[in-house]
Amino acid sequence: MIKEVLVDNAFTKERQPDNSDVIIIDPYTGCQLQCPYCFQMNDSEWGKNIFVNINIADRVKQQLGDIDDDIYIGSKCDPYMQLEKTYRLTQQCLEVLSKCKNHVYITTKADNELILKDVPLLKSFFTPPTVLMGLSNINQVHKGMDNINIHVANELKANGIDVWCFITPILPYIMNIDGMIEGLERSVPIYFDKLRVMTGGNQDKKLLRWIDEKFPQYHNAYLKILYEADLSYYQNLYSKYKADSRFTFLTDEWGT
Ligand code: SF4
Repeated sequence: MIKEVLVDNAFTKERQPDNSDVIIIDPYTGCQLQCPYCFQMNDSEWGKNIFVNINIADRVKQQLGDIDDDIYIGSKCDPYMQLEKTYRLTQQCLEVLSKCKNHVYITTKADNELILKDVPLLKSFFTPPTVLMGLSNINQVHKGMDNINIHVANELKANGIDVWCFITPILPYIMNIDGMIEGLERSVPIYFDKLRVMTGGNQDKKLLRWIDEKFPQYHNAYLKILYEADLSYYQNLYSKYKADSRFTFLTDEWGT
């Protein structure tokens, strides 16, 4: 269910694996993308409702003066999911942030090209935001260089917007990683991460249901990855790309 709500605070802090905190704005709370590997599924309430934080831009304007750090847009939502077409809350927040000196990062993997409408706004910033573009959108994962977010990333880059691409998580056997790399403009850095799915809860079951529905030929391979810690696919990938500084391997345990 979609619910419009008023929020008191525009900014939240999110603890990172290295114990640092980052400052987050979520124009929406809840996500329409429904990635079957989403880490938020560890929260049992996740996905039941999507909250539209309709006063978020006003709150950003009121509270921005207290924030010295970099600001990330999108943690418990994708800021360019379909609701943004209707509400434009991400756009409203960006309009406020365009007047500040904080560096802004936008995290998205929505496959609707909506962010391209905001290019003039992004270019109007003192320092344009960095777009952290995800290539693991489940509607696009098997498309190699035809993944629409590769086109979007290249378009942003051509407009002078800094873009980093994230194949996080890599979905073994399903993705055409070579094709994705080939399709991306060479100066775009690429980050890799393995599937990090907690077993015994919602995450592994939902991922396996999705595999069975869309790619049943890989059912057994994913059983091994999820329940037997089979890293062979990732080890081969690591061996292939580790020497190229364009690629960053997040987390450890990639090597053979
Ligand atoms: S885009 Fe991010 S927050 Fe949304 S469902 Fe996917 S992983 Fe979760």
